[in-house]
Amino acid sequence: MNAQTSVVADDAPGGHGAPAAPARRQQAWTCPFCALLCDGFGLEAGADLRLLGSDCPRAQAALAHFGAAPSPAAPSVDGAPATLDAALDAAARLLAASRQPLIGGMATDVAGARALYRLANASGAILDHAHGDTLMHSLRALQDRGLFYTTLAEIRNRADLVVCLGTDPAAHYPEFFRRCAPAADGAPQREVVFVGVPPAGNLVLEGASVEYQPLQGDVFDTAALLAALLARRRPTAPDAALAALAERMHAASYCVIVWEAASLPAHGALVAEAVLRMVNTLNRTTRAAAFCLTGSDGAYTANYAVSWLSGLPLRTGVLGRGLVHDPVRYATAPLLADGAVDALLWVASLAPPLAPPQTTLPLIVLGHPALAAALAARPGVVFIPVSTPGIGAAGHMFRADGGVVLPLEAVYADTLPGVAEVAGSLLARLGAAGKAKADSRTGDGAIGDATTVGGEGAR
Ligand code: SF4
Repeated sequence: MNAQTSVVADDAPGGHGAPAAPARRQQAWTCPFCALLCDGFGLEAGADLRLLGSDCPRAQAALAHFGAAPSPAAPSVDGAPATLDAALDAAARLLAASRQPLIGGMATDVAGARALYRLANASGAILDHAHGDTLMHSLRALQDRGLFYTTLAEIRNRADLVVCLGTDPAAHYPEFFRRCAPAADGAPQREVVFVGVPPAGNLVLEGASVEYQPLQGDVFDTAALLAALLARRRPTAPDAALAALAERMHAASYCVIVWEAASLPAHGALVAEAVLRMVNTLNRTTRAAAFCLTGSDGAYTANYAVSWLSGLPLRTGVLGRGLVHDPVRYATAPLLADGAVDALLWVASLAPPLAPPQTTLPLIVLGHPALAAALAARPGVVFIPVSTPGIGAAGHMFRADGGVVLPLEAVYADTLPGVAEVAGSLLARLGAAGKAKADSRTGDGAIGDATTVGGEGAR
């Protein structure tokens, strides 16, 4: 689906001030700024970077963090400018001295995630993503019950009823409805029903009707009730509108239930499980599937990369007794709050800047150059600005529908290193120290011992 990148000079100046050089138009560009990875828009590099073919506010806000040329940002150690070698040396010393490091953030591409996993092996680190909490909603449902997801293309070509449960997808994934709009030829007329969150503005969708109905109780109540109605376990429906929706879902030839992990509170996995029950029920007599909006900032990418390398998803530690996965205790916030880790390596190569959490621990940040200002006043910080996949570097990322990996093309040749390159340099520097550290982590060694990391009571 991804078109070849082509960059052509455009003699007409761009609309952003007075560029010194003619604007360049990249006709096909894959946007890395949310998990939809839109690959049908272009980019104009004039005085700044301007999206072509879309007015997506999320992409525009992210692009505002980049110039049309590489950033001159330099690394720093304790707030003082440093060479890349000096910063790498300082970061490697912090990792080598740590008994239990945490690699967090993990906003990077496939190559970056793979390199971070190798670094975790050498340093005995736990791996989590900045959006680990929302990622776990779908992951825990998958672990407990399984999942039944569809793709953007399937929605586009088959869905005649789309139920948006507790979300307005366009609020955080602005191009969602355009990406899965009914195909011009042959796609059935579509009905889109928003449950619990009304669409913003006066939403008009080509080839689809739009309607809204409120939640019955909260989103947990509504999901459970709708699942029961679909299973015909409640002969008397407490709400006529919800009962009518259940009948329409049964009557649809292909119903898709869209939910958004980040819109759910704690225990959102219960909603994911209820959605799965609905889909399972419907598939006894018709066709249905779910679509989960999540995985942005490289969350899906990091999770899939770690899963195929280790056999376990994120929130896994490479500990002395082997790989240990714990979706609750190995979350970034409690690990930091409980003092269960003693160093943090935070990776935020995508934009807008994903700041590391507040901590007094030794901190290494591989991040967007804009993070430098916020980190300058914090002692004990090694900051290494890194390139952004899809802007300063090529790469690959996983799309929201999971099985789809898209290549990212660079807009310009960056002067900054990529996450994979920095992680590889750290790995080389850890070298013998890392091996000695790994050898010392025998049995239930001190690093990452389950009792140390939160204890069983944390469950
Ligand atoms: S919807 Fe997401 S991927 Fe598409 S243009 Fe907007 S930010 Fe980029």
